[in-house]
Amino acid sequence: MKARLHHRDNCRLCSSRRLEAVIKLDPIPLAEKYTATAAPSDSDDLYPVDLYMCLDCGHVQILDVIDSEKLWDDYTYHSGQTKGIVEHFQEVAANVVARQKPAPGSLVIDVGSNDGSLLRAFKDRGFRVLGIDPAREIARKATESGIPTIPSLLTAELAAKIRKEHGPASVITAFNVFAHADDMNGMAASIKTMLAPDGVFQFEAQYLLDIVDKMLLGTIFHEHMSHHSLKPLVQFLKRHGLEVIDVERVTIQMGSIIGTAQPIGGPRKASPAVGELLALEEARKLDKPETVRQFSVNLDKLRKEVDVLKADWRKRGATVAGYGAARSGPTLIVQFGLEDVIKCIFDDHPQKVGKFSPGHRMPVVPTDELYKRKPDYVVILAFLHAKKIIANNRRYLDEGGRFVICCPKVQVVDKNFTGTL
Ligand SMILES: [Zn+2]
Repeated sequence: MKARLHHRDNCRLCSSRRLEAVIKLDPIPLAEKYTATAAPSDSDDLYPVDLYMCLDCGHVQILDVIDSEKLWDDYTYHSGQTKGIVEHFQEVAANVVARQKPAPGSLVIDVGSNDGSLLRAFKDRGFRVLGIDPAREIARKATESGIPTIPSLLTAELAAKIRKEHGPASVITAFNVFAHADDMNGMAASIKTMLAPDGVFQFEAQYLLDIVDKMLLGTIFHEHMSHHSLKPLVQFLKRHGLEVIDVERVTIQMGSIIGTAQPIGGPRKASPAVGELLALEEARKLDKPETVRQFSVNLDKLRKEVDVLKADWRKRGATVAGYGAARSGPTLIVQFGLEDVIKCIFDDHPQKVGKFSPGHRMPVVPTDELYKRKPDYVVILAFLHAKKIIANNRRYLDEGGRFVICCPKVQVVDKNFTGTL
């Protein structure tokens, strides 16, 4: 079944219709739709992922929205499978408890709770926890593992029901989902409904300034509907009765922000970090289309460099594979025109290995196949893990193989590579 798609004509945060395209990309398949056979299927369908800026509030966003059921129903991403993320969530929970001092044993809700990794960190600290996540299978497993999780999107009705049945929450988090929601107004209103007057709401999202500065192309796919910056969010949350009281830049996903808000009139004093980051955004003109357009200018340069590599590979009949069946894969494959170049993708993900990638039907094979197939070049598709992948596969380099990184700069890494990654 073809996914339903609609093109928003207004800003996801402020509803303005003054929207301007700032990053134009080639359409990509849905990043998680791996198929059991190589036969043509709806996983081949391509959908636009262009980014638009709202000229009124500065919010950068995808306006082509995939029907959420199609996007999330059989979603396979488990945050607990990534060790770094579990440690990050432990730190987040420790910080919230130390800085915001929620009452011991009070209720913590995570919106988009995935496999419950973040809530588990709160549960370990003695809090009551409740997860909300529309990916049914992941929600069921989380519940089974002791993190009660409601298998649903957050709606106004659900928020009212939770408030009635569980009482107000002292902490609400939206870490996996704040960039993923189309209906941001509905989400913010629901959060306000569930939050205690002295509670805190904390969110994490990849940060637009990092995306532009570090050329994080691999982070642009349909699930990431918003590419947040602070200024639009401050105005947006204020309209929902929430005041941003703290913000922190963190290295997660190569550049994210963790924002903290409380109901307006709440007991906490705002940190100077909020004003400081707003001043930086102002100085960098982050709410101006030309600032974000620089990304496209840089991308065009990278594409030309990859074209030179591809021509060389063709001439020499080189074999090329990909590494990492990550969500960034289809974006990188399409934008660099690698559809007919990459012959297979190395990955051990239990729900992807043995299957075929969306859109281009590249077989996903176990990573130990790297040493049997020995392709001449391996393009890193899991861009967040490039360093680790290369470090773990020195032997492939020693045996004459080469890794290729396309972003933020094009690099060919062989055994003699001495540059920095
Ligand atoms: Zn706007």
